[in-house]
Amino acid sequence: MAKKVAVIGAGTSGLATIKCCLDEGLEPTCFERSDDIGGLWRYTEKVEDGRGSIYKSVITNTSKEMMCCSDFPFPEHFPNYLSHTKMLEYQRRYAEHFGLLRCIKFKTLVKNIRKRSDFSSTGQWDIVTEKEGKQESTIFDAVFVCNGHFVEPYLPLESFPGIEKFKGRWFHSREYKTPDGFQNKKVLILGIGNSAADIATELSHTASEVFLSTRRGIWVLNRIFGNGYPWDIIHLTRVKNWIRNFLPPAIKKWLEAKSFNRWFNHANYGLGMHEGDQWKEPIANEELPSRIISGCLVIKTSIREFTETSAIFDDGSVEKDIDVVILATGYSISFPFLDESVVKVVDNNISLYKSVFLPALEKPTLAFIGLILPIAALMPTAEMQARWATRVISGLKKLPPLNEIMEDIEKKKKILIKRFGTTRGCTLLVDYIEYMDEIAAEIDVKPNILHLFLTDPKLALEVFLGPCTPCQYRLTGPGKWDGARTAILTEWNRILKPTRTRVAKKLAKSSLSLPLWFLWILALFVSVLVFNFYSQTRQGKF
Ligand code: FAD
Ligand code: NAP
Repeated sequence: MAKKVAVIGAGTSGLATIKCCLDEGLEPTCFERSDDIGGLWRYTEKVEDGRGSIYKSVITNTSKEMMCCSDFPFPEHFPNYLSHTKMLEYQRRYAEHFGLLRCIKFKTLVKNIRKRSDFSSTGQWDIVTEKEGKQESTIFDAVFVCNGHFVEPYLPLESFPGIEKFKGRWFHSREYKTPDGFQNKKVLILGIGNSAADIATELSHTASEVFLSTRRGIWVLNRIFGNGYPWDIIHLTRVKNWIRNFLPPAIKKWLEAKSFNRWFNHANYGLGMHEGDQWKEPIANEELPSRIISGCLVIKTSIREFTETSAIFDDGSVEKDIDVVILATGYSISFPFLDESVVKVVDNNISLYKSVFLPALEKPTLAFIGLILPIAALMPTAEMQARWATRVISGLKKLPPLNEIMEDIEKKKKILIKRFGTTRGCTLLVDYIEYMDEIAAEIDVKPNILHLFLTDPKLALEVFLGPCTPCQYRLTGPGKWDGARTAILTEWNRILKPTRTRVAKKLAKSSLSLPLWFLWILALFVSVLVFNFYSQTRQGKF
């Protein structure tokens, strides 16, 4: 009989998980507290309890070829970077294509998950749900937690002394929706993640003055990268990853800084990070330096103190008559439906085996999907986790013994601390290609490049040199998708389709052809001769 499994949340992680459950012969029931799919990508004018909230103008910072599910590329006419409308449309198409909606119970809140008394032998859970005020308890063989981790605002008020005295309006970035109501206001934004940068640049077109306060600066990435391609298409290739992994850390850091500063010198824009600072996830924002250089947005140091109307900064400068303060200080992970005896969040982190399974559970029947921050797109990473977790839960894959699990957790912790440091914002970070390959290897879907070079060199070249797109993990093994090869070989067409909407009859030349070069040098030579002759005549030598 098929195992009955619960999926909590119908965002991108939940949808991918339902699909993987169906692929592996599990019987999923997904509980979604709101009345629709989409998770945080479903924009609403009002913030909803317990669901991620976005602003109207948000645009993804990862591109469509890199953020699709591995067997369902975005339509070719979709733009490379996506609005929330397009993200939701994609999820609707995905859910419809794979028949997922029938598995979802909407307006159903998961209140509580408890191990059953015979858990050590069955691994079963009692799940209490609530719909329209009525509670119900159901037994499940396994649970997938897909509740999102950008919901609970992190409000480090101790870092902003005096904020309680401040008479203006202050709120967390989760509450920000549109620039309406900010006309002629003096706004101060605290923190410098993607939310802060997006909100600050947007408000700099409306508000009278905008200040952005950061304690340690940031690297800013231009979404439009080499030759105008999306940054992740150019940056996240196997060959570059391979080269990067060979470089000593100091050289890697130096090259990274050089590459970021090539666009604009971060120190000159008040964004430079201090020597020796811990790693920080770069942000994607092509407008930020432009708003700074135009004087529409001013970068400030961290806050020393707030008064009733002003902000005093660490460098002693004061900004008076501030109307609004927005705390863009990020989020805390939380699982209000899980008892602390099962999951304890410490320093915004929980210890998981390969970011999915709790190590010390008697049975591996609880999986966390999407509780990760790849330096790339989250959707395919969550899908990969779901592919592995569903195979573990269906019994097709076994986890190693506890001592090996603990060893792996400790080893990874050390590597991640060395790579990313120990700051609060770094606890969930992983390198995308390494992590995807690691999980893919668990379920035998990691592409074998050497074998590909021998059997299909054209595809091998694209897999090795081109962007490491999610479709690469559908070429072989369980869940192999026949469309994967074509999808990989046509990815550049899908990237160009939405921007190359006008094709010039004959393109203006952006480089000189050989005869033109020759003529140019000849003309230069003749001019020098003529000039020489002329100046010598003027000096009376002839
Ligand atoms: P969510 O989308 O948050 O979905 C969780 C779902 O669970 C929600 O529908 C919620 O209602 C439901 N739920 C929660 N608790 C319960 C409960 N107790 N009972 C029942 N249902 C429940 N990632 C990228 O890869 N690229 C980007 O460009 C990108 N941009 C982002 C921009 C912003 C502003 C933010 C905040 C995040 C961004 N992310 C981006 C990360 C983003 O979180 C992921 O893209 C993705 O939405 C995560 O999906 P999820 O399903 O894990 O979580
Ligand atoms: P975030 O990335 O966690 O950034 C939080 C910011 O708050 C950091 O700059 C951090 O500074 C600062 N901060 C935290 N504690 C502080 C303290 N005590 N004092 C001063 N500053 C403090 O949060 P976010 O920007 O809301 O982003 C959340 C996630 O959503 C990220 O994964 C992001 O990529 C994603 N997102 C994407 C988009 C997009 O695609 N366009 C838009 C928004 C968000 P330090 O670095 O110094 O700790």
